[in-house]
Amino acid sequence: MNEQPVGTVYLYHFDRPYRHAMHYLGWSEDLPARDAAHRNGSGARLLQVLNAHGIGYALVREWPNTTRAEERRLKKFKGATRLCPHEDCKELRRQRSKRWPKIYKPRRRRALSDRSEPGEDKSTATSQ
Ligand SMILES: [Zn+2]
Repeated sequence: MNEQPVGTVYLYHFDRPYRHAMHYLGWSEDLPARDAAHRNGSGARLLQVLNAHGIGYALVREWPNTTRAEERRLKKFKGATRLCPHEDCKELRRQRSKRWPKIYKPRRRRALSDRSEPGEDKSTATSQ
């Protein structure tokens, strides 16, 4: 009774941004049919709008054998850019990681032997 229909979660990457949107994440039991519906204007409202603006969109990622629960989970993730394998998004991630270095990563603790007391001449201490 709790059986969820299984289908495919899919991600479109837009040719150019529409407002702030650059991606569309959806789920369908029959992706080829759903994809065709989006493209002929009988699918999602947002994609109808893209069609009207002449903005193209490419199917860049699929998660087969998934349920709507997975779609919701991925939508909550709030960062389709991070899910997107498109070159533009990869580049964006590279730029972001340059601008915001990974501050969450715990700093590697320096080995105790690396420690030198103030005033201590390390070069003589380590030379052999
Ligand atoms: Zn993308």
